[in-house]
Amino acid sequence: MIQQHKNRQRFTNGTMFIDGEWRTGLDVVTANSSIVEIRETTQHNLIENGAGDLQSDAWEESWMDLQGRMLVPGFIDLHVHGGGGADVTNGTAADVAKAARLHASKGTTAWLPTTMTAEREVTEQAIRNIRKAMLAGTGGADIVGIHLEGPFLNPVRCGAQPAERMRLPVQEELDAYLNLSDNQVRLLTIAPELPGAMELIRYACERGVTISIGHSDANYEQVRAAVQAGTSHVTHLFNGMRPLHHREPGVAGAALMHDELAVELICDGVHVRPELIEYVIRTKPQEQIVLITDAVEACGCADGRYQLGEQEVYVANGEVRLTATNDLAGSMLTLDQALRNAVQFSGQPLERIVPMLSLHPARQIGIDNRKGTIAPGKDADLVVLNDKLEVEAVYVRGNRVEADLSDFSNSRKQL
Ligand SMILES: [Zn+2]
Repeated sequence: MIQQHKNRQRFTNGTMFIDGEWRTGLDVVTANSSIVEIRETTQHNLIENGAGDLQSDAWEESWMDLQGRMLVPGFIDLHVHGGGGADVTNGTAADVAKAARLHASKGTTAWLPTTMTAEREVTEQAIRNIRKAMLAGTGGADIVGIHLEGPFLNPVRCGAQPAERMRLPVQEELDAYLNLSDNQVRLLTIAPELPGAMELIRYACERGVTISIGHSDANYEQVRAAVQAGTSHVTHLFNGMRPLHHREPGVAGAALMHDELAVELICDGVHVRPELIEYVIRTKPQEQIVLITDAVEACGCADGRYQLGEQEVYVANGEVRLTATNDLAGSMLTLDQALRNAVQFSGQPLERIVPMLSLHPARQIGIDNRKGTIAPGKDADLVVLNDKLEVEAVYVRGNRVEADLSDFSNSRKQL
């Protein structure tokens, strides 16, 4: 299917998601790591596909005949704790890269490694490791920054995060993380009702960090104040937050009511009831919906019992739960499954869902100038889907991701 020739590649004969609609009769041409041209497929090109000895400039391209399959922009996941048996918070740089390869095999071409709330030294080491993996390259999904999910969270809404490690917002601590990461913190999940949070939100916005409300017991007024301070994002809507009450809409209600807020959704059918996913997708402004996985290290591994940080979890039926309490402990989701679920749950056409895991997350962290759509000048991050919406091929900045999933299925030692 693929002929390798120099560093130009041409994707042809597919149904391509360009400018928000499905297009046929076009070639997407990439060179090195970028998309350089989108042009009409010509008869000359088609003949050339079948003949091996034509002499022309164009022949210096390799080409991929999509045979009618779909070509969509690479998926972008803003919320990932691990995968393939590797954990971002407690692992090494090699672990970060391993998680990047697992998720890339499922269509994710860019991601934010996401730290769990931990002691400061653990978070600092995690940031060093992520930065190291980012500079070295992962062989999988591009690391486009860091998501700090904590530690400035409310223990009342801790979910599976360790309540005893949560602490009050301090600018000095955030500064340390920003410096360690070379200013690569792109997203900060914070509980805005904590003392000092509003000041930190304003400060972090000035430093170019997108602010997300999460693991929060804020009331409606506090969410409104956080929005006025620059907050633009909500971490896994409905999970780890004050729920909607008709006289006190809480974080969940305020997130639905404020068009300025984008919301993350975990579309695994477990974290949020499918009918509620359908409602949110139907009623929220479309550009404010972002599909994420919240995947943990057990993602991609076989059923069984595993160590997750300091706690034991068990994996069964596509769910990961703490053995001690039976609480959900992150997800087993990958973005290809999130895409299929969102289409199924919402009943919306695919073209409305695809931007929720490509353009919208890119916009939320300010990288839509280089990622999120198929357009000249953008990174050559591309996913080939068949008509069952299964991932058949993935390209990260022009390089095809080769992943053998058997690498991961038994990679984590079971208890
Ligand atoms: Zn998370």
